[in-house]
Amino acid sequence: TRSPNIRNFSIIAHVDHGKSTLADRILEQLGAMGERDKRDQTLDTLELERERGITIKSTPIRLQYVRPNGEEYVFNLIDTPGHVDFNYEVSRSLAACEGVLLLVDASQGVEAQTIVNAYLAIDNDLEIVPVVNKIDLPAADPEGAAAELEEVIGIPADNAVFASGKTGQGVPEILEAIVEHIPAPSGDPQAPLKALIFDSFFDAYQGVILFVRVLEGTLNPKDQIHLMNAGKSFEVDKVGTFSPGLVVGDTLPAGAVGWVAAGIKDIQDAQVGDTLTGKESRTAEPFPGFKPAQPVVFSGLYPTDTEDYRKLREALEKLKLNDAAFNFEPETSEALGFGFRCGFLGLLHAEIIQERLEREYDLDLIATAPAVVYRVTLTNGEVFETQNPAEFPTRDRIELVEEPYIKLSVMVPEEYVGPIMQLLQERRGAMQTMNYIGKRVELVYEVPFAEILYDFHDRLKSISRGYASMDYEQIGYREGDLRKVDILVNNEVIDALAVIVHETKTYSLGRKIVDKMAEVIPRQMFPVPVQATIGGKIIARATVKAFRKDVLAKCYGGDITRKKKLLEKQKKGRARMKQFGTVEVPQEAFLAVLANE
Ligand code: GDP
Ligand code: MG
Repeated sequence: TRSPNIRNFSIIAHVDHGKSTLADRILEQLGAMGERDKRDQTLDTLELERERGITIKSTPIRLQYVRPNGEEYVFNLIDTPGHVDFNYEVSRSLAACEGVLLLVDASQGVEAQTIVNAYLAIDNDLEIVPVVNKIDLPAADPEGAAAELEEVIGIPADNAVFASGKTGQGVPEILEAIVEHIPAPSGDPQAPLKALIFDSFFDAYQGVILFVRVLEGTLNPKDQIHLMNAGKSFEVDKVGTFSPGLVVGDTLPAGAVGWVAAGIKDIQDAQVGDTLTGKESRTAEPFPGFKPAQPVVFSGLYPTDTEDYRKLREALEKLKLNDAAFNFEPETSEALGFGFRCGFLGLLHAEIIQERLEREYDLDLIATAPAVVYRVTLTNGEVFETQNPAEFPTRDRIELVEEPYIKLSVMVPEEYVGPIMQLLQERRGAMQTMNYIGKRVELVYEVPFAEILYDFHDRLKSISRGYASMDYEQIGYREGDLRKVDILVNNEVIDALAVIVHETKTYSLGRKIVDKMAEVIPRQMFPVPVQATIGGKIIARATVKAFRKDVLAKCYGGDITRKKKLLEKQKKGRARMKQFGTVEVPQEAFLAVLANE
């Protein structure tokens, strides 16, 4: 059975190719946005999402479309996160659809995320409607972009719809293409329930709200449901749809996209990718491809003011209620005192959480350098995983260390291929393939995740004058010759500053860190040595020169407002420092390892 008048689809694109703008235009044309609450980028709801122009949640919206011939359709548009940290969420949102609009900027052509996203859609057996966007731009080359889609992804150029989210040109054609080319959902509403969770959030009154796509059967209030991977059962309170807020409805039949409240208290029980079925009448198999949310980047978070420890814990608990992919556990550092080791899906996820803690919970934090998870086999045969450099054993106790690798895909104009290959070589990358696409090249490499974590993207952009783009996926563990570098300030090891580094890079990184630290630690009445060591052996050394400069001395009297500003600036800077004996170490020093060379 098919639900002939429903279309479930998503928009996928490389970042900045105009996904949010086009989504807004579609919403506007279908009357989903009243003039009153018309704002830019309606689907990006969190304040942070709007500010940074990224989508973290897979916000769906239900729209009514009346064709020129009078036929009525329901469109469920599912907006997907646009960042590699959230690629698993993207793949689950796509699994909730029958088709996608694949957007390409007419002035940029196919980019790395265009290819990766297109393959996510192909892997999910989705129909692809190619859209060449931003055709209003003077530099637009719609035919060229369409030809690239054909060449790279095999989508016939003739099928492409030319459009502009800015002017609205081509939007009516896109709406018609959705009806004509994206299949209606199939599924038997009488069969045992089978629904896919593609996102969720925590509501203080109703508990976890699940965003679901019903594949088989029908979901009704009072149904007894079972979460197949979590192995837990619940009773449905309410179901409904999105338009765009949560609207209560009475049933969700096969083919529908909607939400379910079932008194679920713990978001860990309702993970993205899990399958809902009936408690009594179960579907044979869960929807394939479930992966429990797994943090891949870890960092220590410490309150600058030790009094704030409890406040930080409460804030972390609140954030975790809403984010199954985020985790934390208490951690103690000799240098920083009591804090938490936090796990994230990637650096962007880490930044978002940290920013929310500082902004929404008014906390001042010291964050230690982000680290990946290493797998260590000791000489006594014991195997353990660690993401905390402070726990990393000395070399004599290590039999084998393995580190996470990614498959990295880079798109770059051919004139930059040489320097980019050199960069990848420096990052211990191994080339897999190299494809020419017109005057551009797609490079596919296997690279240690740690090597691209910090500044790789910035380096890539600066080497290519902004033209290169990248995307990646985790591919598992490989052996690596890794060492722990300790950092000493004023002859004392500061555990929270330790980093894990590849053997070939210990000297250069040690040098970089001590230099950066000597630069950012305020001067004292006495010189302060900063050293990098491996197993007690000094590999780099720098000195913070004596005498603290009085910032006011720079003012030559006079301008009182300028003086005030400087004083304020100094006060602010001081808030994010930690005192070690008489030496103050600012937040910047903890991230010295991230500094660009
Ligand atoms: P997203 O990252 O894919 O969601 O992209 P956005 O919708 O946020 O758009 C990125 C930038 O491109 C913004 O500055 C938009 O104003 C601009 N933009 C989006 N669509 C168009 C278009 O059709 N024409 C032009 N000229 N600019 C556009
Ligand atoms: Mg966007």
